[in-house]
Amino acid sequence: MVNMLDKMEEVFDPEAVIEEFEALTKDAGEVQREALRKILEENGEAEYLREWGLNGRTDPESFRGCIPLVTHKDLESYIQRIADGQNSPILTGKPITTISLSSGTTQGKPKFVPFNDELMENTLQIFKTSFAFRNREYPIAGGKALQFIYSSKQFMTKGGLEAGTATTNLYRNSKIKKTLSEMQVPFCSPDEVIFGPDFHQSLYCHLLCGLIFRDQVQVISSTFAHSIIHAFRTLEQVWEELVSDIGGGVLSTRITVPSVRLAMSKILKPDPELADTISCKILGLNNWNGLIPELFPNTKYIYGIMTGSMEPYLMKLRHYAGNLPLLSADYGSSEGWIGVNVNPKLPPELTTFAVLPNIGYFEFIPLDDDFNSVEPNPVGLTEVKVGQEYEIIVTNFAGLYRYRLGDAVKVKGFHNSTPELQFVCRKNLLLTINIDKNTEKDLQLSVEAAAKLLSTENQEVIDFTSQVDTSTDPGHYVIFWETSGDPNHHEILQECCNCLDKSFVDAGYMSSRKVNTIGALELRMVKKGTFHKILDHYVGLGSAVSQFKTPRCVGPTNKIVLQILTNNVVKSYFSSAYN
Ligand code: AMP
Repeated sequence: MVNMLDKMEEVFDPEAVIEEFEALTKDAGEVQREALRKILEENGEAEYLREWGLNGRTDPESFRGCIPLVTHKDLESYIQRIADGQNSPILTGKPITTISLSSGTTQGKPKFVPFNDELMENTLQIFKTSFAFRNREYPIAGGKALQFIYSSKQFMTKGGLEAGTATTNLYRNSKIKKTLSEMQVPFCSPDEVIFGPDFHQSLYCHLLCGLIFRDQVQVISSTFAHSIIHAFRTLEQVWEELVSDIGGGVLSTRITVPSVRLAMSKILKPDPELADTISCKILGLNNWNGLIPELFPNTKYIYGIMTGSMEPYLMKLRHYAGNLPLLSADYGSSEGWIGVNVNPKLPPELTTFAVLPNIGYFEFIPLDDDFNSVEPNPVGLTEVKVGQEYEIIVTNFAGLYRYRLGDAVKVKGFHNSTPELQFVCRKNLLLTINIDKNTEKDLQLSVEAAAKLLSTENQEVIDFTSQVDTSTDPGHYVIFWETSGDPNHHEILQECCNCLDKSFVDAGYMSSRKVNTIGALELRMVKKGTFHKILDHYVGLGSAVSQFKTPRCVGPTNKIVLQILTNNVVKSYFSSAYN
């Protein structure tokens, strides 16, 4: 594998990358054994593995026999010692020098996760493989990429380790940047914008750079679809200012960071003709429909993660994208990568991820319809069954062993002998009061049904989340909505509230609602901008905007987000669907 990566670093040859991928996936079982052997050999000295009595063994049977399944909580004390600067081999043989901050949108606060060169190598392999397949279907050459990427705050841990979000760690890495620039078309925005300290200012400049290079833009992307939507919603609000900057060649005073101003001054020159063209194009749009192809006429596709908690943004993305293809990006986490989208032509709703068998060791716990484990024992990568849902367990090259990532996935098929997974949901994001169980996906479907009603009044749901409220007796579901219309628009919103309630079709929920052991669903309308406040809150905690995922269910421990929501409620509706 090292040879392959060395080779890939010399020259980027997409067909060779695909060939290597085919070879790796043909023998996925053996490649997995080899990956595990390598992980355990490299880290045999680690205190954690010795504590569990592995004694240098590297075979899957001993590994599974000795090492327990764990969650992040079980490893927290080990990771904290690493962050505090103890450089004995704790989780890995070689000391960990960097910490990633997971977005933490599920738990309410970012988690520390070890990061090292091997994870960086995995990232390179994932990026190259995914790009090779994408480029085969949608070749791009010359031109530029309008990438809405942002750096998060980087800081030093108590022990002097660098800490930042995984995306920040990646984009700050010169090897990654070199690969990206060799492989892809260059970014529209200069580094000073990407790494700017204020994401509002960076976003404005990304938009400005995109418009300046509008004819050259071939790809529009971000890590998650949310950031693309966020960017174009912002454009709707600030376009006149952007146009005025382009026309006069003078950067708005809203940009105050000196390094960003300096970098932008090299790009921004007075261009009244361009300003006029952009104005005309925007004024000619109907409700911003087809905004992207109109403003960026040579765009080949839109790229970013569009699956899982990003699916609710697809409607809006399609609205902006017109007929442009939406290509959904790969599946990974701060804890490591999992799979690549090797079928970029599939629409986001059908996207699958082929697991790269050499980037970690993967196990799968079969789940039933309620996301409970069917069997306690996980199966190996090549033993999974098509159609079955599983919880995914990761062992990586950076000190995580048999780690429960918390995601549920479904096996849709195989690419050679490696499974193609569909992301189902975060396993712990469940709305539940008694015998009811509703996932992030169930919530999404319910919101989609109700949003359809709302769209008949030309209004849309900008964002949403939920909560189980057990302070009432009986407890009930609360859905928070920020919409584009008037939150006091009683009639239609009452209908939407009823529809939300009726659209949870899980038997446990329906029967509990009928006998009133779950109370009427409550739709709480929040002020415009509430979800931006939530985003700002996470960014303040060190999260990167490009890694942000709106928490779809807010647990009681997530006090600040609950407070933001509660403080911004303007109107509540209670369902009468079961009266
Ligand atoms: P973070 O570590 O903060 O980047 O969050 C990682 C989590 O994001 C994963 O465990 C998934 O739940 C989610 N995620 C990452 N990639 C995808 C994807 N392609 N589709 C759906 N969800 C994803």
